[in-house]
Amino acid sequence: MWQTVGHDRVRQYLARAIAQQSLSHAVLFAGPQSIGKRTLALDLAAALLCDAERGDPCWECRQCAAVQRRQHPDLHLVEIEEGRKTIRMDQVAALQRAIALRPYQASQRVSLIFDAHLLQPEAGQRLLKTLEEPPDHNTLALTTTSTSLLPQTLVSRCQAWRLTALPISLVRSVLGERGVPAREAAFLAAASLGRLGWALQASTEPELREQEEAMVSALIDMLQTDRAARIAAVERLLDDVSDHERLFELWSEWWRALLFQQLGVTDSAGEDTHVLGGELSFDISPQEIVRALQRIEETREWVRANVNARLALETLVLHLPEAS
Ligand SMILES: [Zn+2]
Repeated sequence: MWQTVGHDRVRQYLARAIAQQSLSHAVLFAGPQSIGKRTLALDLAAALLCDAERGDPCWECRQCAAVQRRQHPDLHLVEIEEGRKTIRMDQVAALQRAIALRPYQASQRVSLIFDAHLLQPEAGQRLLKTLEEPPDHNTLALTTTSTSLLPQTLVSRCQAWRLTALPISLVRSVLGERGVPAREAAFLAAASLGRLGWALQASTEPELREQEEAMVSALIDMLQTDRAARIAAVERLLDDVSDHERLFELWSEWWRALLFQQLGVTDSAGEDTHVLGGELSFDISPQEIVRALQRIEETREWVRANVNARLALETLVLHLPEAS
């Protein structure tokens, strides 16, 4: 019984590959934040270590329970430590020492590296060898928000899966199952843009929801204002938003939702988005939307390459279309 919600295709593939013992020894899950990549990686770890050995995690046996507590002796987690900005070289070195030993309790060892794009360059370099040829009885699973943030040499050594946001209706029904009242669930599901993890967190932390709502409303407002007002809005945004990646992600998702709507596609991102920031009734052509998406992606790359964020964002907003 997988704990992951959605992502059926990859789950089915993994279960089959584990049952047939044909799973690649390094897999990579890439996709937006809070869509379940960690949950999927933990599911995978449990499936590999589970006593039942059927390809699915039972989440009931001793091995699965230890994975649940994140205390399985054959499970290694590498993730950013609190107060740090990168995953350090010594964390990777510790992982390498551990996986060189024979499995302790299960038939193999599983290593999970969360947010692999945060690996220090030297740490990533060091990991390459392990990914290419891990010691016997080892599986590694990495997560990242985008493969473009990782060195190509690292991506090419993994079987990479690109995961997308979940259907809004699925997020809504999971929220409902967890006791969130229907109206609230509908709003949060739409605001989540298909990120279940975010929706679950926001259902207990209203300030989180307000922050993201502010980012989306800033975008919507800008489409209806002149150049000077757009520049002023960037000023305010930069005061409030420290996570630029999040901003770009959210803005891209919003444009994508608008595009789906213009094209009449009912898709994960396109459904019910009107709950988010009012009706998406903007008179913007699909061509303009695609250009806006491209510009957001370009701006994101610039900011990643350390171009001044203010300058980059100002350039971006001045080029966004005007909505009538
Ligand atoms: Zn089990």
